[in-house]
Amino acid sequence: MADSMPVGGTVPAAGPPQHSADLVLRNARIHTGDRARPEASALAVRDGRVLALGDEYDVAAHIGPDTRVVDALGRRVVPGLNDSHLHVIRGGLNYVLELRWDGVRSLRQGLAMLREQAARTPKGQWIRVVGGWTAEQFAERRLPTPAELNAVAPDTPVFVLHLYQSAVLNRAAVRAAGFTRDTPDPRGGQIVRGRDGEPNGVLLAAPGALLLYSTLAKAPRLDEADRKTSTQHFLRELNRFGLTSAVDAAGGFQNFPDNYATVVELAREGRLTLRIAYHLFPQTAGQELDDLRRWVETVRPDEGDEWLRLNGAGENLTWAAADFENFSEPRPELEAGYEGRFEQAVRLLVEHGWGFRLHATYDETIRRDLAVFEKLAADGLFPAGNRWLFDHAETVSPHSLERIAALGGAISVQNRMSFQGSAFVDRYGAEAAARTPPVTEMLARGLPVAAGTDATRVSSYNPWVALHWLVTGRTVGGRALYPPQRLLSREGALELYTRGGARITGEEEVKGLLKEGFLADFAVLSHDYFTVPAEDIPHIEAVLTVVGGRLVHAVAEHEGLDEAAAPPISPAWSPVARFGGYQASLPPSASSPPSASGARQADRVAEVAAGSDEQYRWRLARGLEPVGPAGFVDPCFGG
Ligand SMILES: [Zn+2]
Repeated sequence: MADSMPVGGTVPAAGPPQHSADLVLRNARIHTGDRARPEASALAVRDGRVLALGDEYDVAAHIGPDTRVVDALGRRVVPGLNDSHLHVIRGGLNYVLELRWDGVRSLRQGLAMLREQAARTPKGQWIRVVGGWTAEQFAERRLPTPAELNAVAPDTPVFVLHLYQSAVLNRAAVRAAGFTRDTPDPRGGQIVRGRDGEPNGVLLAAPGALLLYSTLAKAPRLDEADRKTSTQHFLRELNRFGLTSAVDAAGGFQNFPDNYATVVELAREGRLTLRIAYHLFPQTAGQELDDLRRWVETVRPDEGDEWLRLNGAGENLTWAAADFENFSEPRPELEAGYEGRFEQAVRLLVEHGWGFRLHATYDETIRRDLAVFEKLAADGLFPAGNRWLFDHAETVSPHSLERIAALGGAISVQNRMSFQGSAFVDRYGAEAAARTPPVTEMLARGLPVAAGTDATRVSSYNPWVALHWLVTGRTVGGRALYPPQRLLSREGALELYTRGGARITGEEEVKGLLKEGFLADFAVLSHDYFTVPAEDIPHIEAVLTVVGGRLVHAVAEHEGLDEAAAPPISPAWSPVARFGGYQASLPPSASSPPSASGARQADRVAEVAAGSDEQYRWRLARGLEPVGPAGFVDPCFGG
């Protein structure tokens, strides 16, 4: 077991002492996140960490002959984003098999993508749209029908997952999945039938999603080599948005150690481009304690390094304690007495010094879990110094927040309401939705809060969609959920997305801020997060993403500066090879001009880029016509 664990990423080669920086970023508007020095315009990086931070004069002394100097062209720079609840390992293993509707703004466009993909997909393969979108983001505000899927893909199985609420299948997929009029409904799920009694292509989570993902599991999988390439491409896709870290929440069908082997191998080879802290999730209902016992005896939390490390158990500890977050269905009533095995699981973890995270959507669940923790606290086991947190907590009550604080817990919130807010309002009313989840109350009580997405199925992995939700309180369809006093400032939201994540992995002294000695993880943004109109926040991307001093994503004026690309996508018919991942689009009213400040910034950046030394040399090196004032070399920063 021990040799299945990460043994470290890249180890810097021993050599003569180096005094100059590896990388200097200048001409930047750096938001450091550090209250002691909130703003800077330049930073220097050596050996993957921030060596110096300040203005041009503060970093000038660190520039040597081998220092790469990057001009940020006056753009906004933020500490690297950290999604504290992302199913990144599973997402990576499947990424190139999926057709992503994330960011697609009309069903018409989504169907056109399916039609094109059907023509490219070989016999025996499926087309899978596996969450990350909601009908509300479409101009048509509805799901596709099975008939529409039949029309665009008459022969290729098409499986379209809508959150963890439903799936729509075409006729070919119903056949490939083996559903007939005689197939019984599984527990917690419904195979919808037409008048003729035949399955009509709609599957419902009622409210459990097992039917949905067990159907998906019938589709062919990637071989090992392609899973590795797929993971690399998914991590690059996350880098595209300025993500530099994620905390993996594990999940069903994610076995340890088997399904972790790909990221372990990438870490060994120094080829991860995103830092991952991961959790372990018992797979079989009724046998959870067997898994947990085996793990506490063979692996240790914090094993690994800054690139890949074990952070504890969860987000499930026992299956019976999990409440499904399907707001279009009534809240599930968890079975009486789940606390017995749950208490044994928590006791085992805490006694072995393990932290854990725990999926809990509703206050009813959280109260029952807290009663177990309080019982263990009476035995002196809580708070135990190990890190533990609740995930989601959409309807957590003020009283439960007090109890969580008393037990030393934290909370990780995700923008699931961006995607399910309207379903929640329809069922429980706008007043209840207004504190779902009550992020400002959590912060007012001093609870550590981290932000994230819960991607890739119940929401998109685009962090800017989540930041937009924290700042505006609006769903992806534009519905306002929260009164102004429940919204976060842009700075506050960003803190939950940077420092917040670092805190729940015990890394707040090495990342989440930009300051000397911290990991050199940051993103140069396409638009200034602090000044763009709020409705433009979801359209922000990174033009340059740096993790540990490595340039892992570089576009626009930095195109060509990033390290070697991941191997080509395989299989070649992959939807990602054709469409990419998140579908960037113009703001909702595509016919109206981009917002004034966005356009201004774009003009200004184009102007400065023309004169950028870096860009000039990059074009020259590739035999391209230089643009802008030729031969411009900054006397201080030129190479
Ligand atoms: Zn969860």
